[in-house]
Amino acid sequence: MALSLYGPVTQLTGVGPKLQASLKKLKIHRVIDILFHLPMRYQNKAVITPIADLKAEQEAVVEGIIRHAHLRAGRQKVLTVTLDDNFTALNLVFFHFSDAQAKAFTSGKKIRAFGQIKPGLHGWQMMHPEYELGPTPLAANTHATLTAIYPSTAGITQKQWHDLQTQALDLLKLSGDTQRFTDADKRSNAETLLDTLHFIHQPDIQADVISLQQRQHPFIEDLAFEELLAHQLSLLHLRHHKQIYKAAPLQIDLQQQQQFIQQLGFELTQAQQRVLDEIFSDFKKPQPMLRLIQGDVGSGKTVVAALAALAAISSGFQVAILAPTEILAEQHLLSFQQWFKPLNISVDWLVSRHKKQHKDAVLNQLKQRNKDSLKLLIGTHAIFQDDVAFNKLGLVIIDEQHRFGVHQRLALRDKGLHIDDNIHNTGPLSYTAPHQLVMTATPIPRTLAMCAYADLDCSVIDELPAGRKTIQTVVMEQHRRAEVVERILTLCQQGQQVYWVNTLIHESENMDCQSAAETAAFLQQALPQLNIGLVHGQLNSEQKTATMQAFSSGKLDVLVATTVIEVGVNIPNATLMVIENPERLGLAQLHQLRGRVGRGHQQSFCLLLYQKPLTDNGKARLKVLRESSDGFVIAEKDLQLRGPGELLGSQQSGITRFKVADLQLHGHLLEAVDKTAHALMQDSQKNQVLIEMLSQRWIEAADDYVQA
Ligand code: ADP
Ligand code: MG
Repeated sequence: MALSLYGPVTQLTGVGPKLQASLKKLKIHRVIDILFHLPMRYQNKAVITPIADLKAEQEAVVEGIIRHAHLRAGRQKVLTVTLDDNFTALNLVFFHFSDAQAKAFTSGKKIRAFGQIKPGLHGWQMMHPEYELGPTPLAANTHATLTAIYPSTAGITQKQWHDLQTQALDLLKLSGDTQRFTDADKRSNAETLLDTLHFIHQPDIQADVISLQQRQHPFIEDLAFEELLAHQLSLLHLRHHKQIYKAAPLQIDLQQQQQFIQQLGFELTQAQQRVLDEIFSDFKKPQPMLRLIQGDVGSGKTVVAALAALAAISSGFQVAILAPTEILAEQHLLSFQQWFKPLNISVDWLVSRHKKQHKDAVLNQLKQRNKDSLKLLIGTHAIFQDDVAFNKLGLVIIDEQHRFGVHQRLALRDKGLHIDDNIHNTGPLSYTAPHQLVMTATPIPRTLAMCAYADLDCSVIDELPAGRKTIQTVVMEQHRRAEVVERILTLCQQGQQVYWVNTLIHESENMDCQSAAETAAFLQQALPQLNIGLVHGQLNSEQKTATMQAFSSGKLDVLVATTVIEVGVNIPNATLMVIENPERLGLAQLHQLRGRVGRGHQQSFCLLLYQKPLTDNGKARLKVLRESSDGFVIAEKDLQLRGPGELLGSQQSGITRFKVADLQLHGHLLEAVDKTAHALMQDSQKNQVLIEMLSQRWIEAADDYVQA
């Protein structure tokens, strides 16, 4: 079979199973992936530096005549070879060498050596340099280009990298598959992908090494642009794909909506109303909605979801709500039961701890075709199971969507695919799909949102309900625990409640739970008059729920927890959040935790009890939290302080790690990428070849996208 750029690395000479395994660790599977593994720095082996001009620590090539070689015998043999050029001497020092090697260093021979310059006892020296011995004169210098040094992993030497890159470049040239794509304001004058990659892997000696190393060279920006474009196109493709399904338009019963709002006891905020209108206008279309609601913690996403669910149910459909934890699922169960009972709408839930009897009853009710069928099912991952089948699923709501992957979302949607009775041909057009509403309280910066959520329409609830007071955040050192304990007592005596989150991230979950248990014991001892509860990951879900309920109903004054309580829990009477070792968590997670308080009318506080010493970055992060309570601002800062890699786990967004692009360095390209991608999709038929080429080149799991 002919060699292929897109085939496995084992096609190359010298790549066996062992090297293949090492490459795999760097996510390099195909030959083309090798080419996108860029150098981290370059060495200049092309210029010979006079010994008199050398500087300490510099990497340089020197050339001179060997004057003598000295072998020190003993347990640790040392070979010192002294050479000079124009009477300035330099020593080459070897600890490991063969006899033949040692013998070859005869005086009067010409030598060229490359290595790092160190000051030694007798002038400059190089330890274990690369070298060439020659007849006089040595052949002309063969390194006409800079030498790339690659980030590596155990089992791959630099020499192997050079060999792999050379072979891969040859294959690229042979394949002729070197068309390069860019937009009108292209960043470099490279003609082809081959030019670009050739330059990056083997730059000529005048190249701007600094900007190459910093990945800001026009050639690298070109590559990054192409990669981002490939991803953007695949997301748009997803979106395009979803439009081939039909959806049943939903009716909005305004009177019923009004009634529902009246029983809430509060008015919707303007932002909630606006987002609701956006959802309703989607509902009227014959295509499935795919909408993301971004809204800060406490902005009231649940009520908006409830009103959307109400519209779907009154139009005769079932609704599924997916939550990431059982605690959250149960909380939703309680809210929705309270809201929907007066309207005679049946609500139930399904989580993995449920016994068969409950599950069977739920499944049975779900399948019913009559009025008695279950209208709203709330659950965790348990509702992905194959045997969970709906009769007429019209809306899927996913809470805290960053906890789920794209594929989970699609799996749930597929439960709602059904053949339209009126159309008899097969193919996607004869299917209707449910509407999808996904919600997240982890806002991500706009630049990232563009590539993480290109397949979704976005709505933002950018307003908190009236009467909320900003949570006051105080950063203090851990040894002031005693003051904190006093404060807890005062608050609880006034009838308020307190969270204490123990964030120690130990090697094992077991140890985390232990340290939370210790904190609980400590607090119980210090505050015998209060009721202290404890939740952590090792409790089973019944125990967790029982404790959460006790806290929610006010039976417990203080709840000590590991980060399991992170998302969505809503207890308005809790006004103090103590977070131990906040320096260990990401800003977004801290912001989420803090958002557990400040949900009622009382002034709330967050105490960040840090452990000294703090790194500069740690200090900067806590400062951001103290100064801002806006999730979007915090997300932007998080991006600056941590980089996008951590912010956008692939789970969160469904996008993979990039090969070349780095959103922190190349974020400025996104706007142009987005524009170009939309332009190409406008005429996707005509551009199909190009779009497929980019996808094949940059996106390995291209099949995943197509199947979506
Ligand atoms: P989140 O967006 O974090 O999921 P929730 O939906 O849990 O927030 O809402 C937080 C709290 O705010 C709940 O107690 C909810 O009833 C209340 N709430 C929601 N909308 C409003 C509003 N417009 N006015 C007053 N309170 C509201
Ligand atoms: Mg919520």
